[in-house]
Amino acid sequence: MRKRIFANVFFLSAFGIIVSALLVSLIVYSSFLDEQKKNSAYEARNLAAALNAEGEQEESSILASYTDTRITLIAADGTVLYDSLRSAAEMENHLDREEVAAALLQGEGQSVRRSETLGMQTIYNAVRLENGNVVRAAQTTSKAWLFVWGNVPYIAAIIALMLLLSAITATAVTKKLTQPINGIDLDNPLENDIYGEFTPLLRKIDAQNKQIKKHISDINRKQSEFESIAQNMNEGLVLLNQHGKVLSVNRRSYEILSCSDLFEPGDHYFMFSRNLMLREAASTAIDGKSFEKKAKVDGRWYQFIANPVISDGKIIGAAVIILDINDKEETDTMRREFSANVSHELKTPLTAISGYAEIIENKIAKPDDVPDFAHKICRESARLLALIEDIIKLSRLDEGATVSEPEEIDILGICIETKEQLAKKIEEHSVDFEVKGERVVVRGVVSTLSEMLYNLCDNAIKYNKERGSVEVEVSNSGDFCKITVADTGIGIAPEHRQRIFERFYRVDKSHSRATGGTGLGLSIAMHAARFHKGTISVSGNSSGGTTFTVLIPKGNG
Ligand code: ADP
Repeated sequence: MRKRIFANVFFLSAFGIIVSALLVSLIVYSSFLDEQKKNSAYEARNLAAALNAEGEQEESSILASYTDTRITLIAADGTVLYDSLRSAAEMENHLDREEVAAALLQGEGQSVRRSETLGMQTIYNAVRLENGNVVRAAQTTSKAWLFVWGNVPYIAAIIALMLLLSAITATAVTKKLTQPINGIDLDNPLENDIYGEFTPLLRKIDAQNKQIKKHISDINRKQSEFESIAQNMNEGLVLLNQHGKVLSVNRRSYEILSCSDLFEPGDHYFMFSRNLMLREAASTAIDGKSFEKKAKVDGRWYQFIANPVISDGKIIGAAVIILDINDKEETDTMRREFSANVSHELKTPLTAISGYAEIIENKIAKPDDVPDFAHKICRESARLLALIEDIIKLSRLDEGATVSEPEEIDILGICIETKEQLAKKIEEHSVDFEVKGERVVVRGVVSTLSEMLYNLCDNAIKYNKERGSVEVEVSNSGDFCKITVADTGIGIAPEHRQRIFERFYRVDKSHSRATGGTGLGLSIAMHAARFHKGTISVSGNSSGGTTFTVLIPKGNG
């Protein structure tokens, strides 16, 4: 813009200067010409006066004295009598010459025209003499041109000076014009004190500024909404462009996938993680296909779902979502294992029962053995019944369903009742069973808590040593009721301690069977504790036996 303003101002003034110089030269030329015409007329009159005064004797000397001017003497009939440049005899009749005709008619005549003789523009002045002849003085206009031409260097110097001045002025004008424009505060367009012509433009810029600000704040709001959703979601989210560059990656993705230290947003997803499933998901989606596969990452199950992002029929990127499906997978695995285990556990006693019954039915058994077989059938049936009962209890706890409503329960009282229920077993195993502690009341489901304590105490007796002891203690532990069941029994090796709460897990299968165990007692106990939002843990104790610790929140319902 500066250049344009400068060029406009400069060329306009340059044009003005040159045109002015030409006009001035033209005026000077025409003034000089006028002056020359007057001088020429004056000269012709002087010549005529001299010729009139001196007579014909001096005529030739007078005529010869004019060396700068062409002089022609013409007779009244137009015959050329004398010419200072050419031989008069060669010259044609001059009666038709405008100045000659005028002089013959009015006494004086002037004409400006091109002279064939001189080959130039010429001023002719003719005066009629007293003897009737006409004397003519002719001067070329070249003097006027020479005068103008002689001044050309000065004119050129003046033009150059004026052009320089105009360039300086144009620079100053340009600066003055553009300075306020350059200083416009586009952030606050209406606060600018500038040319009135700019007001509509500044108003438009102000309106656009407001619109842009609104757009930006909308975009920022949406961006922060997206960020807070993406960052707080439980699923991993990786957004890529069509070239595989990572546009956005949330906190959960960093946690799930081992992210490279070298990675920075904007890098290719290869830099983000070495995880093969992510790479497969990303490349499939960028190729325009949907992807869905399960994979284990660091021992946990995840589902990788990837889809291309399409806009106007073109793939502009891909979105990869990583779902944590570990719990579901584990539950599914547990269910599968549980079904397989249940079938197996049910099959064992049933096979025994049907085997003994068949022997009796086919009368293969000796009559003396029949009572023994009948006893075995009874024992296996009892085991089967216990197993079915435990499975029912577990499935009820799985569903979170209970038979009765929550109520205030005295845990110490339940422990004493449990001891009474197990009195026969205590006696059979000759163990010393002690219940001690304080009265702690919790809100809970009595049947479920009784079942839990029964199973723990039953195990403490079953897996005890001859003449061992069991100590059940109830105490307050802050907001919790703490129950410990400690025995002096066979103990549980540390590597089994985490697994004994699994369904059908037994440290010693034959021992468990021999004692009528189903392998579900501790699973039921753990579910019962969890049902009351409590915990159950196991540890070894100084006697080599085992201590189970249960913490139940008092206020649970
Ligand atoms: P089970 O019906 O076999 O007793 P549980 O689920 O009650 O099943 O217990 C799982 C396994 O944990 C038992 O088979 C046994 O090996 C072990 N166990 C449980 N309680 C004790 C304990 N007090 N002392 C030693 N081992 C125990």
